[in-house]
Amino acid sequence: MFKKHAYYDSLTRIANRLRIDEWLEKKLKAFEDKREGFSIIFFDIDHFKSVNDSFGHKVGDEVLVELAQLIQQHLTSRELFGRWGGEEFIIISSMAGEETVKLAEDIRKVVANHHFKGAGNLTASFGVTHSKPGDNIDSLLNRADKGLYRCKNCGRNQVSYIK
Ligand code: GH3
Ligand code: MG
Ligand code: MG
Repeated sequence: MFKKHAYYDSLTRIANRLRIDEWLEKKLKAFEDKREGFSIIFFDIDHFKSVNDSFGHKVGDEVLVELAQLIQQHLTSRELFGRWGGEEFIIISSMAGEETVKLAEDIRKVVANHHFKGAGNLTASFGVTHSKPGDNIDSLLNRADKGLYRCKNCGRNQVSYIK
């Protein structure tokens, strides 16, 4: 019971950072030992601060819950999904980078076409990368973050793949 609590984000009820860290450690080990590659999608809601500023923090919270549910519905049991923190989320996929870029693109469209209760239309930016020899959690996330920031600098509502 304690463990279950420790692994879930109290707002969105999806996996939290602690759980994501464990998943990533496991994935990195399987990559090192058995060459089982994987990819990650790191994404962040665009201009989320203005959701809070315009509609209030409570609506902002509801958007995070709605987004988590929306994305969960579009994933299969093959993907791992969690809240990294704030308005940042991660998907871990066993697919190759190119396949994962397609998944990110699908999710980008799903988000952009969704009408959020109380906040209307929103978009998100997505950084994608795949496991590379010698990777640790930091190096992996840094690449994905680089992709994310490339999107933020190029108009947002985009997917960027860092090889
Ligand atoms: P960008 O497009 O560059 O990502 O802009 P942004 O406004 O989304 O980014 P910024 O990092 O400036 O703001 C993130 C905001 O997310 C600020 C913070 O108050 C809000 N936030 C983080 N966690 C929560 C939460 O749990 N609930 C609510 N309502 N807001 C949150
Ligand atoms: Mg952010
Ligand atoms: Mg943001």
